[in-house]
Amino acid sequence: MAANNNKKLIILTAPSGAGKTSITHFLLNKFSQLSFSISAATRQAREGEVDGKDYHFISVNEFREEIKNDAFVEWEMVYEGKYYGTLKKELQRIWSLNKIPVLDIDVKGAIHVQQQFPQTTLSIFIQPPSIEELKKRLEARKTETPESIATRINKATYEISFKQHFTKIIVNDVFENACKEAEETVNNFLG
Ligand code: 5GP
Repeated sequence: MAANNNKKLIILTAPSGAGKTSITHFLLNKFSQLSFSISAATRQAREGEVDGKDYHFISVNEFREEIKNDAFVEWEMVYEGKYYGTLKKELQRIWSLNKIPVLDIDVKGAIHVQQQFPQTTLSIFIQPPSIEELKKRLEARKTETPESIATRINKATYEISFKQHFTKIIVNDVFENACKEAEETVNNFLG
């Protein structure tokens, strides 16, 4: 494999709706050496999402086959019946380009990845300013049903309790400030 950045990787994790995807996009635009790690997922693509760019959308059977093949660094059933996972070959692909993978994954997955690469991982936890604000943001997306909002809010409360596991906690109150803090954190990590 080509020389690489010592196989560094960056994880952004947060409860759903805390703004981690927007901050991930900001970082990917800011730093050319970063590359988005495309997860495999079994949920339906949302409008505007592209297979092979946002996710590798695969069937539950295909996903289970990949689990058997030991193809994942980590995988989780993030929501009832919906699998999401980081493929080993996806990280290898990015490292072989001499780039640093950026993983936008849930809290449990983030803890598992971090355990496997403790020396080379920067993990950033994006914290919503409050549960009320998180609920407002999820409602504003207009892609969620009341049931899926309730599920995500319950999960968020649980996930926030794990925030101390991560290298850096950033409260996403004012988006521009959170981006600036994330940029500084990544700058320090890249050295
Ligand atoms: P969404 O369905 O909104 O795209 O994602 C739901 C949640 O799954 C988000 O918190 C997202 O970060 C997380 N997620 C996306 N890909 C992965 C993955 O590969 N592994 C894990 N553990 N979580 C993921």
